[in-house]
Amino acid sequence: MKKLILLIMFYSGLVGILSAQDKPVVASTASMIWDMARNIGGDHFDHRMIVPIGGDPHIYEPTPSDARLVANADLILKNGLTFEGWINSLIKNSGTKAAVVTVTEGLPALTSMTYKGAADPHAWMDASKGEFYLRNIRDALIELSPEHKADITSNYEKYSRELAAVDEYIEKEVKKIPEAQRILITSHDAFQYYGRRYGLNLQAIQGVSTDAEVQTADILRVNKVIRESGVPAVFVETTINPKMLNRIAKDNDIVVGGSLFSDSIGDEKSAAPTYLEMLRYNTNTIVAALSRKKTSDSADADGHDHGGKNSGNSNYLMIGILAAVFLGGMLFMIKKMNN
Ligand SMILES: [Zn+2]
Repeated sequence: MKKLILLIMFYSGLVGILSAQDKPVVASTASMIWDMARNIGGDHFDHRMIVPIGGDPHIYEPTPSDARLVANADLILKNGLTFEGWINSLIKNSGTKAAVVTVTEGLPALTSMTYKGAADPHAWMDASKGEFYLRNIRDALIELSPEHKADITSNYEKYSRELAAVDEYIEKEVKKIPEAQRILITSHDAFQYYGRRYGLNLQAIQGVSTDAEVQTADILRVNKVIRESGVPAVFVETTINPKMLNRIAKDNDIVVGGSLFSDSIGDEKSAAPTYLEMLRYNTNTIVAALSRKKTSDSADADGHDHGGKNSGNSNYLMIGILAAVFLGGMLFMIKKMNN
C-alpha cells in the first residue's frame, strides 16, 4: 500500500513537472511587462520576471539564477530604450536560444529632457503608448504558440479595452488639478510620457536613469520651480531612496504628496499590484496632492506658526476649543446636579 502511494506521488509529481516544462517560458525584464504578458498570455505560458517587484531596472545587477532563467527561456520581453542596459550581455552570456522582443518597438519615443540624445524609456506611463506594448506582446506570444492564437487575441482585446478606459480616466482626473499647479516634481525623470499625454509640466532631480548622482544645480532648479509656481507637493518613488525629495519638501515647506510607482509595480498587498492599478494609483495620488492649496494657505500639518496667513484655520481651532470647554462644563454641571 505504502509503495503504491509513493508511486502515485512520484507520478503526479512527474506530471506536474512535465506540464510546467511544457509551457513556454516567457521572461520579462520588468514587472509591468510581466504583468502585461500574463494578462495577454494567461495560463498558456510560464510567466517570469527578471528584476523583482520593487527593484530598480536601471541599475539592476543580474544574479546567477537570472542567467539560468534567460538560458532556459523561450521568449524574452524587454523594454529597450536604454531601460535595462544589462540585459544584452546577460542574453549573450547565457547562450539562450530565446526570441528577444523589444516591447516598445514602433512607438514614438521621447528623448531625455536632461541628457541630450538619451532615449527616455518610461513609455508605459502613457496608457496610449502602453497599447504598443500590448500589441507587441500579443504578436510575440502568438509567434511562440500559434495554437493559442484565439485565446491570446481575445485576452489582448479585453485588456486593451481596460487600458483605454484607464487612459480616459487619467485624462479626466488630471483636469481636476488647478492649471497653475499641474507640475509634477519627482525623484527621477520617469513621467515625461505621462506629463505630455495628460498635461503636466515635469521636473525631476535626476535624469531618465537613476545611476547618476544628484547635482546641486538640479536641486536649485527644482527649488526655484517650487518657489515660483507655488506647487503644493513633490513626490517620491517606490524604487528610489526618498531622502533628497523629503529634504526639498522640508526646505520649501511643502508636503511629500505620496510615493509613486514608476519603474516597478507594487506587490500583492500594495495599492498597485498590476500595471493598470499602477497608472490609476499614481493618478489618484498626484491629483489629490496637487489639488490641495499650498501649505502656507491651508491646514498646517506640522504646527508651524505662519503669522496670520492661516488665520482662517486658527478661527476654526478657537471655535473647536471653545466648544470643547463649553461641552465639558455642561457635562460637569449635569453630573453635579444628578449628585
Ligand atoms: Zn526610470
